[in-house]
Amino acid sequence: MTTSASVRKGGTWLLEDAAASDVFTPERLTDEHRLMAQTTTEFVQSEVLPMLDRMEQKDWDLARSLLRRCGELGLLGIAVPEAYGGLDLDKASSLAVIEQIGPSASFATTFGGQANLTILPLVLFGTPAQKEKYLPRLVSGEIVGAYALSESGSGSDALAAKTRAVKQADGSWLLNGEKMWISNGGFADVIIVFAKVDGEQFTAFIVERAFGGVTSGNEEHKMGLHGSSTTPILLQDARVPADNVLGEIGKGHKVALNTLNYGRFSLGAMCIGGARAAIADAASYAASRRQFGQPIASFGAIRHKLGEMIARTYAIESLIYRTAGLIDATLGSAPHDGAAIAQAFEEYAIEASIAKVAGSETLDFVLDENVQIHGGNGFVKDYSAERYYRDARVNRIFEGTNEINRLLIPGMLVRRAIKGEIPLIPAARRLQDEVLSPSIGAATGSDDTPLADELRAIAAFKKVALMIIGTAMQTYGDKLTDQQEVLGYAADILMDTYAGESSVLRAQAAGTSDPRHQELHLAAARVFVHDAGLRVEAGARSALSAMAEGDTLRTLLAALRRILKVTPVNTVALRRTLADSVVAEGKYPLGA
Ligand SMILES: Cc1cc2nc3c(=O)[nH]c(=O)nc-3n(C[C@H](O)[C@H](O)[C@H](O)COP(=O)(O)OP(=O)(O)OC[C@H]3O[C@@H](n4cnc5c(N)ncnc54)[C@H](O)[C@@H]3O)c2cc1C
Repeated sequence: MTTSASVRKGGTWLLEDAAASDVFTPERLTDEHRLMAQTTTEFVQSEVLPMLDRMEQKDWDLARSLLRRCGELGLLGIAVPEAYGGLDLDKASSLAVIEQIGPSASFATTFGGQANLTILPLVLFGTPAQKEKYLPRLVSGEIVGAYALSESGSGSDALAAKTRAVKQADGSWLLNGEKMWISNGGFADVIIVFAKVDGEQFTAFIVERAFGGVTSGNEEHKMGLHGSSTTPILLQDARVPADNVLGEIGKGHKVALNTLNYGRFSLGAMCIGGARAAIADAASYAASRRQFGQPIASFGAIRHKLGEMIARTYAIESLIYRTAGLIDATLGSAPHDGAAIAQAFEEYAIEASIAKVAGSETLDFVLDENVQIHGGNGFVKDYSAERYYRDARVNRIFEGTNEINRLLIPGMLVRRAIKGEIPLIPAARRLQDEVLSPSIGAATGSDDTPLADELRAIAAFKKVALMIIGTAMQTYGDKLTDQQEVLGYAADILMDTYAGESSVLRAQAAGTSDPRHQELHLAAARVFVHDAGLRVEAGARSALSAMAEGDTLRTLLAALRRILKVTPVNTVALRRTLADSVVAEGKYPLGA
């Protein structure tokens, strides 16, 4: 399988133009990718969704047997080398599977605990002996995994963990401490536990429940995800063999951060599937529910909602597929070891954080509108809109909260710029000279290729992002990390830029990749970019007003007005086109 996207360094989309042929899109999935997706959808529809009520009664034997089914179908080993029972396929294959797992609600978290949080760190950091011992049984679903990083006093600040590991005379380790909110915690057999050796060196260990000294606390009473086990894990003199250190002593942060890099990308992918399913649900309800003598789908207010749900989902789908293509292009088709994969994930850590934040917030928006379209029925348990709304809320909290990820997006970009890994600083200087020259204006042109106006808008978003980041670096220097509000505005502008450009490039390719739906691709990209322009302007004004005053602020705001000119489009009509298509097709009309 090949995704045939161009190799570009992480974050460089801000500084370079890209062409439609450079980016991977859902329309470029191969037949093999589509077969994996189809297998997963059928499994979720026929074997998981009918079991959700039973799983919500905490039937963990059922959760185990569903994981075993995933093993039989090959879904747990997509990214695992064949030598350890996996299929060793590309990230596009993982994406095709994960997004179809998304609508399985609680089971998606059970699946993620196994595939992303246990199997992945073993693939990336395990020794050959560790991989041989654990991976085949995890990949087949014979044993269940969990990942224990958080503690009651250390969630976002995970490295402040208090769990201790003390080396014994025979080389083994004694672990003591209490981990909190652990997915699969009630029934996991193998747990990746983070502890500090002698209270100092943060280290990852592979801990089996069978070692003794490992117990699960009570199930948490949660807002949602009632069919996923979440418990504390208590370690009381848990004796761990010397061979079960994962990675190096004192380098547990590498295991944790690299697992998160992929986990964030993967969570974004699950959100795509959830959003698509909710759009189909909302459209079919709107088509059948009648008020004032007509289907509610005929009302402008409902068509607006459906159109917006599609445009936003299209944007996250586009950016996440583009990112999968970048990772696959970087890894190439040659066999790669764990270190090479970890490095590729690290290269695209900015894009992974964008996928997590944009994915989880888009999904929450879509699910909220789905409840609203269902009216009173959206608020009662007889309809699935209510369950999905509650289940999704945690996506903004785990895998690094969205606040932490918003700090990371511009933070990582600035760090890469300072290290000279990407030429952001010279680009910001050039822009500053341009800003001070009275001749600066929005890029113009007579190009009449589809979405030429939108591409010009994206070029302007990039300039605005550079202007905000450059001004912030100059204003705050090494104290920039203290300026969380400004970093938050920068993150939002960067997310809209990456999402907008990914949508436009995908829609430009749609003439050949999906001609039947070309009009819908163009409509989704136009709506997204148009409204992104309004958000970018508001965010930039707030950020600049926080950083400058007087004549300097006036100069910067005047430059902003000259740079950022977004051609008005009739988004009302475009949203109606999108809404009518989903009602007619009865499903999300775009995508894989
Ligand atoms: C259902 C569920 C499943 C989970 N599964 C797992 C699992 O399998 N394994 C695991 O290890 N953990 C798991 N977690 C824990 C989860 O990762 C943490 O809850 C999360 O990292 C946030 O930590 P916290 O709850 O301590 O919040 P806090 O860190 O206390 O954050 C509280 C608020 O303060 C904000 N905040 C914190 N620090 C900063 C800062 N520096 N700047 C700005 N704002 C900040 C946060 O964004 C948040 O809004 C799970 C949690 C839940 C609810």
